[in-house]
Amino acid sequence: MPVPPQLPKMLYADAKGNIFDHPELCMAGMNGTEPVLPEDIELIPLPEDSKLFTMPAMPPIAWDARKKSFVLLDEVHEGRRSQRVQAVAAFMAPGYVRTLLPACDYSRKKTQLPLWSYTAVGWDEGRDCFVVAATKVDANSNWNPVNYDDRTLDPLVRAMLKQMPGNRLLEQLARCALDYHCFAAKNLFYRRWEAPLPTSPVCNSACLGCISLQPSECCPSNHERITFVPPPEEICEIALPHLEQAEQAIVSYGQGCEGDPILQADTIAEATRRLKKATSRGTINFNSNGSLPDRISLLCEAGMDSFRFSMNSVREEPYNRYYRPKGYVFADVLRSVNIAKQAGRFTMINYLVSPGLSDAPEEVEALLRFVADTGVDMIQMRNLSIDPDYYNQEMGVMGKGIGMYRLLQQLKQEFPRLQFGYYNRTRENFFPPDLETGWPL
Ligand code: SF4
Ligand code: SF4
Repeated sequence: MPVPPQLPKMLYADAKGNIFDHPELCMAGMNGTEPVLPEDIELIPLPEDSKLFTMPAMPPIAWDARKKSFVLLDEVHEGRRSQRVQAVAAFMAPGYVRTLLPACDYSRKKTQLPLWSYTAVGWDEGRDCFVVAATKVDANSNWNPVNYDDRTLDPLVRAMLKQMPGNRLLEQLARCALDYHCFAAKNLFYRRWEAPLPTSPVCNSACLGCISLQPSECCPSNHERITFVPPPEEICEIALPHLEQAEQAIVSYGQGCEGDPILQADTIAEATRRLKKATSRGTINFNSNGSLPDRISLLCEAGMDSFRFSMNSVREEPYNRYYRPKGYVFADVLRSVNIAKQAGRFTMINYLVSPGLSDAPEEVEALLRFVADTGVDMIQMRNLSIDPDYYNQEMGVMGKGIGMYRLLQQLKQEFPRLQFGYYNRTRENFFPPDLETGWPL
């Protein structure tokens, strides 16, 4: 195994959560179920606004350069004192795809980890900074937390609620902005960029890592779902001024923590028709599981500009294990992707990735075939937020993949016009002039 010249040091945490870098042992990561060494190319400074977590009760795995092997570090000794230690993980700011999972002994875990995306992290002595195993996939800096200051938001929320009394969707979005601190919802009140239009209290999938609906005995979900379907009038009252006035205006159905908007396609089609009749400005986007192809045709006819279909795998078996579809099959999702693309809509995949499954040779082969067959325009590389050990077990992941960075390289090599990203795009920016050289960033 080639060892990078200067590996970062391993991080560990004491029982209180204080984080230290080890004086000798080096950082390892995990691809699937195997510890591996990060490659130079995939070690980048921890992006600003990322967080560090401890992996409770799970001791770290490190690279011992003297022994030339991976070792498990249960305890550290300071003089005559020894103490048990736990591994450390990073949760990165958006726009970056992780290439390695944290290396630790997951079998010691006592409870299932909450829904975050856990990334391998170390300390680089040369650069004097934390480093993560990751690569940047989107240059859009709009979503940077410095752009979301609640002190300026409050008066805007109050003013808009006053302007549109009785609009329940707006009341929901005010809660999303102020209580859940949803950046997308905040954009609506700032009247800029991408604003969400939640519409669906229900879904026909039961994803293992759905952030809006977790069975109560499992980890708590981050947000409460919307409880009603807003009529086209309420949607248009909110969306039209945004499309007409916002800078880089996008309105998006299915933006994150609701059910799936495809189950409200009639309402959404009607709202979209009205919006398209009223203005030619802005971009209307639909994020969905793509489970009902005839609904996608309806939405194309209504004037939807772009579609983003979510999947954790382009193979039926892992897809079914994660999405647990009710009343549709994987082939329906593929038909939806084809319908949107053939109707000339900007077509994206929300690819929920995890090293070990997403870069497994059989997944890579299926993904290359999928891109060739469908001609999708963009793959949004989204780090799947779930306990990585639980996911690997549920998906039957054994061993390691080819490497996430290699996967991206291979895709770009075979399909230079395929774009990577993390965020939705305005129509003007669907096909930027530098799209063939848009990655690595
Ligand atoms: S498709 Fe979306 S809303 Fe439906 S279960 Fe999956 S994550 Fe949840
Ligand atoms: S993503 Fe979630 S929190 Fe944000 S607006 Fe949609 S439903 Fe609300």
